Amino acid sequence: MKLFSHGGGCGDSCCLRVQNLSVCIGGDNILKDVNLHVHCGEMVALIGPNGAGKSTFLKAILGQREYDGIIAFSAPGERSRKPRIGYVPQSPAFDPSDPISVADLFACCQSRRPAFLGLSKAARKDILETLDMVHGADLIDKRVGTLSGGELQRVLLALALEPMPNILILDEPLSGVDVEGMQSLMDMLDEIRKTCDLSILMTTHDFSMLPRYADQVVLIDHGIKIKGSPETVLNSEEFRTAFHMKGGKA
Ligand code: ADP
Ligand code: MG
Repeated sequence: MKLFSHGGGCGDSCCLRVQNLSVCIGGDNILKDVNLHVHCGEMVALIGPNGAGKSTFLKAILGQREYDGIIAFSAPGERSRKPRIGYVPQSPAFDPSDPISVADLFACCQSRRPAFLGLSKAARKDILETLDMVHGADLIDKRVGTLSGGELQRVLLALALEPMPNILILDEPLSGVDVEGMQSLMDMLDEIRKTCDLSILMTTHDFSMLPRYADQVVLIDHGIKIKGSPETVLNSEEFRTAFHMKGGKA
């Protein structure tokens, strides 16, 4: 993985800089010459049609895809360290009959102790504190397979926030979530990025949320077609072309 700190260009603020990123899978150019700069505390939304390369872009940043180009991170006082990245994957499916609880899921992800040995009091307290950040302490004993789309996203978000990352990456966190759940998830992300000064990079097909929450919207279709404020991107010709709209506004 070619993820390293870089000097200069961002003043005192931390940032993620992607330069000339290209990803080729099986001889196909999935992404070509992607350039993007994300400042700390910024919410960046990646949009684009299905198959445009959005998830591939996130996976390259996570180090799960080979790529050409540079993915660099810098933070004040942390110039030589790799960033901590929190990742919320695209809706994993859990079986409703599976007995695994939210507490078990945390225990499996965060400790080497087998879930069947049960949780220590201290571990349960830590999990409750983490879940509280997403207003989800009441979910601790629920079975994961029975959670609503919005509840599951909040649990996965809590898992990604422990330990607190520098960059939070979410792949379509709003899919399968009802309107009320979307609103509360976006409010939560907004609060977390402001209080913790972390960058958020998320993909979404829900454009209605963008004007209120995104600082920067990036339209990807195998390369960046346009990036800028939500208003600029959603009212652009590039946006209408990518989503086959004949005219009018988003
Ligand atoms: P998006 O998230 O924008 O819907 P993806 O990044 O998942 O798009 O996929 C972009 C393109 O790359 C698609 O054509 C997909 O089939 C291809 N692709 C992604 N991952 C792989 C893989 N592991 N092997 C082969 N092709 C892949
Ligand atoms: Mg995807």
